Amino acid sequence: MSESALFPTYARFPITLVKGKGSRLWDDQGKEYLDFMSGLAVTNLGHVPDAVKKALVSQLDELWHVSNLFSNPNQEKAARLLVDNSCADAVFFCNSGAEANEAAIKIARRYHQKVKGNNRYEIITFNQSFHGRTLATLTATGQEKVKEGFLPLPEGFRHVPLHDIAALEAAVNDNTAAIMLELVQAEGGVITVDAGFLREVRALCDRHGILLILDEVQTGMGRTGKMFAYEHYDVEPDVFTLAKGIGSGFPVGAMLAKAHVKPAFTPGAHATTFGGTPIAMAVVAATIETMLQEKAVERAAEASKYLLAQLQQNLNDLPNVVEVRGKGLLIGILLTDPAAELIAELHNRGLLVVPAGPNVIRLLPNLLVTREDIDTAVSLIAAVLTEQAAAKSVSS
Ligand code: PLP
Repeated sequence: MSESALFPTYARFPITLVKGKGSRLWDDQGKEYLDFMSGLAVTNLGHVPDAVKKALVSQLDELWHVSNLFSNPNQEKAARLLVDNSCADAVFFCNSGAEANEAAIKIARRYHQKVKGNNRYEIITFNQSFHGRTLATLTATGQEKVKEGFLPLPEGFRHVPLHDIAALEAAVNDNTAAIMLELVQAEGGVITVDAGFLREVRALCDRHGILLILDEVQTGMGRTGKMFAYEHYDVEPDVFTLAKGIGSGFPVGAMLAKAHVKPAFTPGAHATTFGGTPIAMAVVAATIETMLQEKAVERAAEASKYLLAQLQQNLNDLPNVVEVRGKGLLIGILLTDPAAELIAELHNRGLLVVPAGPNVIRLLPNLLVTREDIDTAVSLIAAVLTEQAAAKSVSS
């Protein structure tokens, strides 16, 4: 075969997937896989969910794209569904998580500069965070590896260690516009934010008139066993972002804000050609409606309890497992050694999982995952980890 015409930006797994349904995927050799990665927390209702497919196909017959210069009933409906099921009062639709975070950064600055009449612009984020790959969102990201070779970076971002309230207080100054964080740092290794810390962050924001932005791109819409991760805490954000789970695999992002922030985006302040097309919005509305009808969030919370219990029971005594952590169906297994070989072996045996940092296996089954599929996944993971531990003890 000739050399690929693509940029080699991805270190791809050596598998070509050609078909999916529910929790199952098939490769071009006909091999079946149990999917515990959901396309990186995207296909939350499983692959090709019937109700969403029906809405998509029916919209494909009607209208694809007319631009955001016309009113868009599908966009209104999707926004209403999001607002009715969250603490937000307004939604801006875009095409990805990074774009949603760009919109959040932009609205935070504009809120201060146009609504509050000050010149605040700085965004504080946390070490190990991940917020996207555009210039602003990679600058917001608290991981050096995504920034290499892209200097100079945009101004106006500061990073502090997670859970260090003193460092956060010290970083706040007259220019601070917003504090932005994920409630489970997913790409950063599946690290959950403590409730006490988030309360202190919210109080700090309130004391200084700073906006609290939550990046719910990975945690949003059921993934953590609540519709939004902030529901695990008695704290609400001023602004939050969504993407992955709201489109069942259709590219879409959303920036949501409370009423006091809404006036910051006036006509012309922000825009996108493709954000919120009739097609994308038919998919988002059908995804949310299906989630509600299927009680996907409650089912995810139940499945999470079972999955965590099974993992504890089967992995607890293994010397190569440090801990099982995470929230809902965003679970990390922290290992003593690099996870890459184990992940390759799990793929080989028909279970698709992904890493989260070098030593963590990340599990992201869809929200409707069954106990049988959990049993299969846990027994494969336990078998591979047990074999690795045994091989290590022989060789040492
Ligand atoms: N924010 C978080 C928390 C993410 O996990 C991701 C992607 O993994 C992003 C932002 C960026 O989203 P996208 O890849 O859709 O731009």
